Amino acid sequence: MNRKDLVANYRVWRRRWLYPLISVVVALSLSLGTPIVGRALDLRPLLLQGVQVLQLSNISDRQEVELGGQMNQELRGQVRISRNEALTNYVERIGRRLAANSDRPNLPYTFQVVEDDAVNAFATLGGFVYINTGTIKTADNEAELASVMAHEIGHIGGRHLVRQMRQRALASGVASAAGLDRSTAVNIGVELALNRPRSRQDEYDADARGLRTLTRSGYAPSAMVSFMQKLLKQGGSVPTFLSTHPGTSDRITSLRREINSQSSGGRDGLDNAAYRARIRSIL
Ligand code: ZN
Repeated sequence: MNRKDLVANYRVWRRRWLYPLISVVVALSLSLGTPIVGRALDLRPLLLQGVQVLQLSNISDRQEVELGGQMNQELRGQVRISRNEALTNYVERIGRRLAANSDRPNLPYTFQVVEDDAVNAFATLGGFVYINTGTIKTADNEAELASVMAHEIGHIGGRHLVRQMRQRALASGVASAAGLDRSTAVNIGVELALNRPRSRQDEYDADARGLRTLTRSGYAPSAMVSFMQKLLKQGGSVPTFLSTHPGTSDRITSLRREINSQSSGGRDGLDNAAYRARIRSIL
């Protein structure tokens, strides 16, 4: 190949791959934030200042659901999602009841069971909630399981992960053009969802939101306390739920105070035998 051909080839390559690639990266970056930037404007200085990352804090519900869906794809390669249809349907039914009474009832929630004996649960963005089989087995009744789910829905209500993603992106210096594509956001989100350094403030907030949701749904609010107490008493190896959710005793005290101040609470979900029958397939 002579030099002229090389140059011609390069031009073709550049037209075919490089330009579309740049536009894809720019489009993805922009889609994370509101399109306030005009076309004629040079994006580079704005991108370098982290404007796109800062806009993670006010992404739309639709964008949040999209990101949550992409994180779900990624997570499905890292955790084992249960194919137990009866169990998943049961958890979904509880979830829908809670979601309708949550702070963000209009999100399209997705509830999935993770085959893992660790007592844990987590939520990502846009209504994606994951419950370990270990949590389902440890709960004595539906109200206790619902209390954990309501707590996770509370994290979604408080948009806690979105804020943590933004902080992580800024702290790790990916507030540059290269680090602002969707896949980086997805990776940060998945990493935080699985190994989230939970802030005390977020846990109290998720508890308070969760307790309100639980009560509004008609479940016995005392179940949130009884489930936490059970984990505290279990001893032995510290359950994941406790190690990642700090200050359990303090949280119990605070929940008790809140419950006592409520004039009336629901009483649903306290039938232990009915619950055991529902989850028989994994006992
Ligand atoms: Zn939590």
